Amino acid sequence: MPHPDPGPHVIEAGPLARADTLPGRSTLQGLSGGRWLRCNGCLSTLDRDVVTRNLNVCPECDYHFPMSPSERIALILDAGSFEERFATLAPCDSLQFTDRLSYRERLEEERERTGASEAAIVGEGLIRGTRVLFGLTDSRFLMGSMGSVVGEKLTRCVELATSLRLPLVLVTASSGARMHEGIFSLMQMAKVASALARHHAVGGLYISVMTNPTIGGASFAYLGDIILAEPRALIGFASPRIVAQLTGSPLPAGTQTSESFLERGLIDRIVHRRDLRELISDLLGYLSARHADERSHPLYSKESNFFDCEESIPNVLQEL
Ligand SMILES: [Zn+2]
Repeated sequence: MPHPDPGPHVIEAGPLARADTLPGRSTLQGLSGGRWLRCNGCLSTLDRDVVTRNLNVCPECDYHFPMSPSERIALILDAGSFEERFATLAPCDSLQFTDRLSYRERLEEERERTGASEAAIVGEGLIRGTRVLFGLTDSRFLMGSMGSVVGEKLTRCVELATSLRLPLVLVTASSGARMHEGIFSLMQMAKVASALARHHAVGGLYISVMTNPTIGGASFAYLGDIILAEPRALIGFASPRIVAQLTGSPLPAGTQTSESFLERGLIDRIVHRRDLRELISDLLGYLSARHADERSHPLYSKESNFFDCEESIPNVLQEL
């Protein structure tokens, strides 16, 4: 599908900009680089292999460690079904931003450290046989911040879902705006939100999955028809450290968690990582009209090939 020029802050950089393979480097940082890990939830010392086999979840307290893109894709999508799209997009350095390093040097450093080319990966894949557009943000790469390439990839992913009439699943792990790109970073929020609004207007389905952390500029995560979150994920407008700096006092403990957001009706369900694929699959099956007899259902939308369940999505979740 042809795409309009995204502007002077993004270039199609060609094969040099992409990692050779999907970044799979483990997100589990061992103590002194060794076999043992310290759990951030219960402070237990854990065997890295045990945690890895347990989907990067602490066997003592269920703390959910971060996942690399390849681990997340393997968790949710059918094996071998993911085909990455728009992998060669690369950011320009419009502001000539420099702190300890120039922005270009920092990007190179992040690519070397993580094996990823940017903080978002998008593409097509299958979830138990249902084709979806799938995207994620990678908190290892500049904290998953919303740079111009992240915004452009997500926008194209949404637009592809709309044009192909496919459901969209986005998994968020992001610190928010990318300071190195200034206003270009902030513009991405409006751009992705506009694409999601067009997807929504034609009845397209968008399932959002918030993971730890989902902060600030990851505003697209709040626009899902259905919003899921992993347990005890940090979710909020700004990180606790920034809030404390700006207001002079910390927020009450537990305020910026998925549990708090569920209690206040801002998300739909908290899902343990081991159940995530099954729930998403159930939702896709429940909401999509794949069989001819379902297309005579009064809530069936010809435009999207989905049931128009906006009014009843909480009921859908209750029934699953
Ligand atoms: Zn633990």
